[in-house]
Amino acid sequence: MKQIGHFIDGVNVTGTSGRTADIFNPNTGEVQAQVSLASVSEMDGAVASAVKAQAEWARVNPQKRSRVLFAFKALVEKHMDELAQVLSSEHGKILADSRGDVIRGLDVIEFACGVPQNQKGDFTMGAGPGIDVYSIRKPLGVVAAITPFNFPAMIPMWMFGMAISTGNAVILKPSEKDPSVPMRLAELFVIAGGPKGLLNVVNGDKEAVDAILAHDDIKAVSFVGSSDIAHYVYIEAAKAGKRAQCMGGAKNHGIILPDANMDQAVQDVLGAAFGSAGERCMALPVVVPVGEGTAERFLEKMLPAIDSLRIGTSTDPDADYGPVVTAAHKARVEGYIDLALKEGADLLVDGRGFELQGHEGGFFMGPTLFDNVTADMTTYKEEIFGPVLQIVRAATFEQALKLPNEHQYGNGVAIYTANGRAAREFADRVEVGMVGINVPIPVPVSYHSFGGWKRSAFGDINQYGMEGLRFYTKTNTVTPRWLESDELSEDSAFVIPTF
Ligand code: NAD
Repeated sequence: MKQIGHFIDGVNVTGTSGRTADIFNPNTGEVQAQVSLASVSEMDGAVASAVKAQAEWARVNPQKRSRVLFAFKALVEKHMDELAQVLSSEHGKILADSRGDVIRGLDVIEFACGVPQNQKGDFTMGAGPGIDVYSIRKPLGVVAAITPFNFPAMIPMWMFGMAISTGNAVILKPSEKDPSVPMRLAELFVIAGGPKGLLNVVNGDKEAVDAILAHDDIKAVSFVGSSDIAHYVYIEAAKAGKRAQCMGGAKNHGIILPDANMDQAVQDVLGAAFGSAGERCMALPVVVPVGEGTAERFLEKMLPAIDSLRIGTSTDPDADYGPVVTAAHKARVEGYIDLALKEGADLLVDGRGFELQGHEGGFFMGPTLFDNVTADMTTYKEEIFGPVLQIVRAATFEQALKLPNEHQYGNGVAIYTANGRAAREFADRVEVGMVGINVPIPVPVSYHSFGGWKRSAFGDINQYGMEGLRFYTKTNTVTPRWLESDELSEDSAFVIPTF
């Protein structure tokens, strides 16, 4: 059985804690590897190596830091097929989607390559008599990145790209469900010329996360995962005096106004609801047709579209989506379908009990569609994170707007309409971090930034873009005055200087 340890100080090391977790092949249901779960002392060793590497890296000029990231980007591109293969085999998403996972991460690496420009400081000449002021952004030191299973390439790169470019060292604690891609990315970083110890991958579970939260040398924690754990990490990090940005779960609504291009809306919702088996924080698991007859027009096109969905293994080039990540996750999603039925939603398409011929042990699920879901249902209030689409009908624009606004999550939302005025008003009034107008999955490009509102994100600063750069740096403002050797300042030393 393949054993996955950790990547510390530039080399793969075997885990010593004696604790492991199984990694499944979601296509077959078989255990394909075991990953070590780090102990506190293994975490301490990784942090010590990061502290050493960071002290030197912080003195490397920004253009040289940028060159390492350019080389890393080129190397990852060269290994794209291999990475996508590994990613699909542990996660279950189809190969084309795994490539997208890597590419969206590389977009942030590309942005991070602009660090010589982006980390440049501000300078004011003559802020007072003979006095100048400059502000610079310095790295924090060692920072931690704790990532979820559903984007094992993109989210680690969001974090370590920005952190390393700005002069920090990183402890990456990826999901224990699919750690192979993060491990390989760290290896490629060293092959590309990255200093050893600057990017360490420490695999593990709650014990490793708690070791991060308790470690004095870790100055900031960037987390993406489910909301309860995001909140826990945020509170504990803040208590320990660490900077924290903790992104959580989501329940994104797709609002369809009566004048929407229905063919486009159906095509987009189909991909956004069922792509990656619904395991995306920017998926669209709720659709809100607005006004008389809109739901019927939506269903007329959506039902045959669902019927034509192809479910296959993650390596099947004809599949639209593959299996979910684990048997436990499949059981959880099926539990929500059972509950929705009890709550009185109308089950139009039932994805339970689906088996892929020749892969009966795999964690496959058919698509599920519910109609007449209401805002008081638990299955509406909570995140399901599977191939399940819920229709909540709304009579008016105001009723539709109220749904995302009153929901506990506020990650993403999309509106479909031909009316610019309605879209503008919606974007202005909706209480959600990322808004798509006739765009189903509005994950911002790398030079903007990513972040939800409400229980979808704890902390003030978004991921990547200039916000990411600010998260991983602290401002240093210097006020110098150079007098002639015999010159005396006329200021009194007893009052605050005013200019
Ligand atoms: P998860 O919360 O189970 O795990 C996330 C990380 O936390 C992992 O590294 C895991 O090892 C660690 N962890 C798990 N249990 C822990 C505990 N008790 N204490 C401390 N750490 C613990 O999330 P997941 O299932 O891997 O990912 C899916 C979730 O992530 C969904 O809720 C999804 O919406 C969310 N997500 C959010 C975003 C976003 O940007 N808002 C992006 C992707 C995924």
